[in-house]
Amino acid sequence: MLTRPTTRTLVLAALISLLAACASTPPPQTTPDMASQLQQRAPIRFLLTFDDGPARGSTDNSSLQILRTLDQNPVQPGIKAVFFAQTRSWHAGETEAGRAILRQEVADGQVLGFHTATPFHADHALMKPQDLEASLNNGIADLTSLRGSAPDLVRPPFWAYNAQTFAAYQQHGLHMLLTDLSANDGKIYGYHISLHRRGNLLNMLAHVRDEILIGKLPVVDGAIPVVVTFHDINGYTADHMAEYLQILIDTAHELQMPTTTRPFYDEAAAVDRAAVARAVKDGSAPKELPGVWQWIWGE
Ligand SMILES: [Zn+2]
Repeated sequence: MLTRPTTRTLVLAALISLLAACASTPPPQTTPDMASQLQQRAPIRFLLTFDDGPARGSTDNSSLQILRTLDQNPVQPGIKAVFFAQTRSWHAGETEAGRAILRQEVADGQVLGFHTATPFHADHALMKPQDLEASLNNGIADLTSLRGSAPDLVRPPFWAYNAQTFAAYQQHGLHMLLTDLSANDGKIYGYHISLHRRGNLLNMLAHVRDEILIGKLPVVDGAIPVVVTFHDINGYTADHMAEYLQILIDTAHELQMPTTTRPFYDEAAAVDRAAVARAVKDGSAPKELPGVWQWIWGE
């Protein structure tokens, strides 16, 4: 005799079919023809970016852990990245300990960019124009003091921007950098097992491969910069950073995408040139945001 399925059974069945669908989705393949075309193009180089730092806390500080791993790791020592900082964040950027971390980033040859200069992770697109203006002035002053020169890069919080915020960035000499790959790491601690992260990054890099094949991405200093985003206040990122570096190299090999000899940027001026070249040029062009953000903000 058939019985009515319970809600629990239905949810379970839906989950199982979803997992089966995920498991049966074939990984992106690079055909021999694509591989030979890629050999004719410039190699890729990974431009790492970190949002939301500095991390809070003096023990096991995630930002400092990231700095150590970028400097010393089995994949490529001496990696330089962009840190999009929250210079006045509550209990972090606004504190002396937080400013010391930001100074350490500059001393290490890392590039500091603007993210927020408010106590919280404020959405620039929701701020009144005068509040955004004040925030930009504060953040630029903070970063100029830390860096010794004005910042030229911004990453919008929540990837949220519009024509007005884009124009405000431009008026302050800030180039808005979005991303090609986003690790989405540590959102549910312990859930994102290695295979999941690998598949996620592989799919996003396959999209980059397709853009390279149609000549969409610029070549800078002989390489095509591929922007990758992590969260340096996230303990999961910090604990798995060296593993992420290896995953990026593995996925490039798997997709037969040639990389530069040193596949990660290792000098601040080159990081900056690459980031400026990859920044959004037209604030009214269709948005290209990572993952679920495209669904939320894309039109
Ligand atoms: Zn953020």
